[in-house]
Amino acid sequence: MPLIFLLLNYIFPLHYTPNYSTLIYDSKGKVIHAFLSPDDKWRFKTEQHEISTNLKKVFLNKEDKWFYYHFGVNPFSIFRATFNNLVYRKRTSGASTITMQIARMLQPKQRTYSNKLVEIFRAIQLEMKFTKDELFEIYINKVPYGGNIEGVKAASLIFFNKSPEHLSLGELTALSLIPNRPSSLRLGINNIEIEAVRNKWLNRFEKEKLFLKPSIDDAKLESIKAERRDLPRFAPHFSNRFRNTVSYNIHTTINLEQQRKCESLVKDYINTLRYKGIQNAAAMVIENSTGKVIAYIGSADFNNNADAGQVDGIRAVRQPGSTLKPLLYGLCFDEGIFTPKTIIADVSSNFDGYVPENYDSKFHGNVSVEYALENSLNIPAVKALNILGKEKMILALKQCGFSSITKNEKRLGLSLILGGCGVTLEEISNLFRTIANKGVYTPIHYIENTKTTAQKDTILTASATFMLSEILSKIARPDLPVNWESSKKLPRIAWKTGTSYGRKDAWSIGFNKNYTIGVWVGNFSNVGAPDLNGAAIATPLLFQLFNTVDYNSPNQWFNMPRECGIRSVCSNSGSPPAFFCKNLVTDYFIPLVSSQKTCTHLIEMKVDAKEQISFCNECLPKVGYKKVLYENYSPEIIRWMEENHIGYKKIPPHNPDCSKIFKSNEPKIISPINGNEYYLEENNPQPILLNCEAAADVEYVFWWVNNKLVKKAKANENVFFDLPEGSVKISCADDKGRNSNIWVTVKKVNL
Ligand SMILES: [Zn+2]
Ligand SMILES: [Zn+2]
Repeated sequence: MPLIFLLLNYIFPLHYTPNYSTLIYDSKGKVIHAFLSPDDKWRFKTEQHEISTNLKKVFLNKEDKWFYYHFGVNPFSIFRATFNNLVYRKRTSGASTITMQIARMLQPKQRTYSNKLVEIFRAIQLEMKFTKDELFEIYINKVPYGGNIEGVKAASLIFFNKSPEHLSLGELTALSLIPNRPSSLRLGINNIEIEAVRNKWLNRFEKEKLFLKPSIDDAKLESIKAERRDLPRFAPHFSNRFRNTVSYNIHTTINLEQQRKCESLVKDYINTLRYKGIQNAAAMVIENSTGKVIAYIGSADFNNNADAGQVDGIRAVRQPGSTLKPLLYGLCFDEGIFTPKTIIADVSSNFDGYVPENYDSKFHGNVSVEYALENSLNIPAVKALNILGKEKMILALKQCGFSSITKNEKRLGLSLILGGCGVTLEEISNLFRTIANKGVYTPIHYIENTKTTAQKDTILTASATFMLSEILSKIARPDLPVNWESSKKLPRIAWKTGTSYGRKDAWSIGFNKNYTIGVWVGNFSNVGAPDLNGAAIATPLLFQLFNTVDYNSPNQWFNMPRECGIRSVCSNSGSPPAFFCKNLVTDYFIPLVSSQKTCTHLIEMKVDAKEQISFCNECLPKVGYKKVLYENYSPEIIRWMEENHIGYKKIPPHNPDCSKIFKSNEPKIISPINGNEYYLEENNPQPILLNCEAAADVEYVFWWVNNKLVKKAKANENVFFDLPEGSVKISCADDKGRNSNIWVTVKKVNL
């Protein structure tokens, strides 16, 4: 016999690997989303803890009392059944063990003696392949409940809206009856009949003393409230993203209650914007301390096909607008380049041909770094990136998991800080969580009980992130939505907005101690909308989400870290004050890191009695001079003030009889642009603008073209000149002998 079995086993091997529908759970064990199995069944895998003692008792008692003692076949039952069949000509059930029933469910066949033999053979194979507990699990996951519903868990979720371990004895007994008569006893339709049959079985259980009498009495009184429900389909983008990842039962970090509130907020909010041509939004909520994503809204409405609702806006690569600026300034704080009160010039600037503009097309002159960040000024940001070095910025972004930036790093220039790169809402949200977590980056995670890599990178110091949180949480900010009535009730949050070129993306990313929330608003069709911008469109939704997710939480804020210091600085420069600085403000700084250079917002000059000539130590007369303080503006600010007709007290020109040549602060040629090619019309060449930025004490500059003096001009005068064809050297010297050169190429063409 065993030899025959082994031979048959070799010829007809058992092919069975269970397959199930996927269930997505939230962090509290509630089902968020159910997917059909590959063969379109509702068939869920029970987990060990869902198989209660009662469930096992009821099913074993009813179907196969000796399940744990036989080898797949119960010879006594078979003998009894065959005997009854032959002698009394009646069919009795009970001959089939649970294992044989599994065999039949796997390969349904007509009930003949020969098929019975096949079943017995398959049952033994099953017993060899699986343990008893595994077989019991396969059985209760596969028993039919009518239609495409299979297994106790599917029935329990669909008809009783609970997971199997929470079924009462009455419900369990009812569920154990259905598989034998799935067409006549249908849950939700024949509840009364089911109750009657159930109570007969409960009486039997009572006789066999399977359960205590009071439990049985309770169970008999319990009416069956089964009704067929649709399985939940919440968090559709999230669920689709993770459906085939870990297992059939995926326990995630989502908080279903919060998820549903946020889902409807996003949907309702976008419905109010459709008339402006704004159709979609995505949002995510991350718990800062753990990195768990507790709400994930990929689009305004998953089922809206017209607006591509199935696109997952959380993973879509979009342009970030200004949302990367906080990281940049944070890195500059850590490099000692800036503190929040450092003064930086917001004037037209040329970075090797790249001339960025501000959002409002205006320049603001001297501003503090914190003002530049609050108001999202572009020129200070490009300057900061230029000083820091874009490599340092890109490295930090790579460490924070920005994949598109990593992929395209070679192609990125200074414009990256104004949004000239690709990011996802997921990446940018976790960047802000990194700021909330004192600069320590860890990946976010979605699945509970999975070992995430212990990747941990320090991107910014606690001091830098504290300064950023202070700046970004100021309540009177220009990007506070207009008429935001409830802002007083809003928990304190730090946030940054962003708007991409062409008004295609509106961003608002915010954090407090507990959560980071990222919001993107725009169209998946990539069509811009005139009203689309981060402050007016994305921020109101961010505030609504914060009010919902973190409503009434104790309003704690970040404490100043011990490594961070407070100092008095001159408000004109943001530097530690010199003797002449009168307007002092307090500022945060990082001791031993932040620049300690004393303020030079004024400069003491030695001038003649009438303040007509200034002297250096070389040409200083023994008598007849005095010391006077002048505003020490940078050349670019002087140019901006002249252009805007802002008056100021000029430093008198340097003594014309002085022989000393000054080394630093040579004039900087602004136009034409070094290295550029200029195409001029051959017959009617237009003159080219010659323009420079000269130091504060310069009165005249001298323009040279190909080493020939062409013009003496006022320091900030616009000079026009016809350039010759070919490679042209342009030089600018000031009245102190300081000189700078550039080269351009001029081509004359017939236009
Ligand atoms: Zn000062
Ligand atoms: Zn001199």
